[in-house]
Amino acid sequence: MNASLNHPFIRLFGRYLRDQGLPVTQQREAVAQVVFSSSGHLSVDDIEQQLRDGGDRIGKATIYRTLDLLVKSKLVDEHDFGEGFKRYEHRLSREPVHEHLICMECGSVTEFRSEEVQRVEERIAAEHGFRPTRHKLEIYGLCRACQEAGAEVRDQGLTCPIESV
Ligand SMILES: [Zn+2]
Ligand SMILES: [Zn+2]
Repeated sequence: MNASLNHPFIRLFGRYLRDQGLPVTQQREAVAQVVFSSSGHLSVDDIEQQLRDGGDRIGKATIYRTLDLLVKSKLVDEHDFGEGFKRYEHRLSREPVHEHLICMECGSVTEFRSEEVQRVEERIAAEHGFRPTRHKLEIYGLCRACQEAGAEVRDQGLTCPIESV
């Protein structure tokens, strides 16, 4: 059992659930606690493992449903890095606007922040008379460690590499 369920975001999530007329259950709070306690990009397997390490046995179906609610509550972002499963990260981390570098060999995700990217977003949107609310930049390739270990980018043929990673 997780020692404390008093993370401030847990209370926000509880409020969201009550607003939706949904019960605030210990299981939902435990799943939310794992996500809010991490600054990483967690898969469902990661979350299940951390719950188990904390003594909570919560089925995957409940974890999926809770993550769905967390995403709908806008407290958590869902990422699809083309690995065949989703990753989750809470939005109230230190860097609210950040981009991702995704290693296609080891799956590591590195965050970075660039004011230049934000300026480009604003300029391109302005050129199209578009009012931006958010953007997403994902750079796929090989991290330094994998390059040093001799990994090569797999031949992607004529397909778009982003679609086929
Ligand atoms: Zn790597
Ligand atoms: Zn991130």
